[in-house]
Amino acid sequence: MRVAVISDIHGNYHALEAVLTELEEGEHDALWCLGDLVGYGPRPNRCCSSVAARADLCLAGNHDLGVLGQVSLDDFATDAALSAEWTREVLEDDERAFLESLKPAAASEEPAAELFHASPRDPVWEYVLTGESALAALELTSAPLVLVGHSHVPLAIVLDDGRLSGGLAMEGTEADLGRGRWLLNPGSVGQPRDGDQRAAYVLIDFDEPRATFHRVEYEIERTQAEIRERGLPDTLAERLAHGV
Ligand code: ZN
Repeated sequence: MRVAVISDIHGNYHALEAVLTELEEGEHDALWCLGDLVGYGPRPNRCCSSVAARADLCLAGNHDLGVLGQVSLDDFATDAALSAEWTREVLEDDERAFLESLKPAAASEEPAAELFHASPRDPVWEYVLTGESALAALELTSAPLVLVGHSHVPLAIVLDDGRLSGGLAMEGTEADLGRGRWLLNPGSVGQPRDGDQRAAYVLIDFDEPRATFHRVEYEIERTQAEIRERGLPDTLAERLAHGV
């Protein structure tokens, strides 16, 4: 079974469309999404309806929950809070209902994996970016594979024989999932923060078993123009060109 995993789309429909187009050209059996469909970006409704139609499993992220009023926007940075308030105003009923149906954590039995928007310790807020947080994530779970999003940084970290190794997963990184227990972050579709501005996803072949990290070019300037048309903060448009 081959599962494509995406995360942190953030209302960037052109990035999402590029990833979905590439996936349709290849072969995969299921699509999982680790949350943050909305927030920051200009096309929240289209991103929600597109993921709702295609994803076999989908989590809620902190931005989704902030837009729904389930977590306080006081915990958001200024640009994040402004875009969440704008998203709240334009979000349509079906898309809101879809987001309301989602949780920040889930488990899959076949194939076996535990999924969290942020981390097992705090599925909504904790960034897994250090060895300590990666080790805690693996120690708090039992599935052979743990998937997290939220940091917008693609990661492949393995715990094997009590030893933690791995880290940033650039395009083309392959993880041999048959050895040890793995924590993977696919990176972000709609707002990458690892210095590579292209949309990110990971393809997991559970039969091999192997994970491969992918990047896809998309028309960044189209999303930037939409951000500016809607009067969202210009920094949200600028950062997309730099992958930060
Ligand atoms: Zn996010």
